Amino acid sequence: MKTNKEWHQAHRMPARATLEQRVAWHIEHARHCGCRQMPEKIREEIKKRNLKA
Ligand SMILES: [Zn+2]
Repeated sequence: MKTNKEWHQAHRMPARATLEQRVAWHIEHARHCGCRQMPEKIREEIKKRNLKA
């Protein structure tokens, strides 16, 4: 999959992101860009929270 550079420029991960922020970032990321896979830890958190990725 292609990297969505524009999305990345507009959505930088904060340097000290909380887990909450990381989960939200990865959900948005998966919608807009396919440059990397969601880490297993993030997937687990999404499952726990019953969110849709
Ligand atoms: Zn990406």
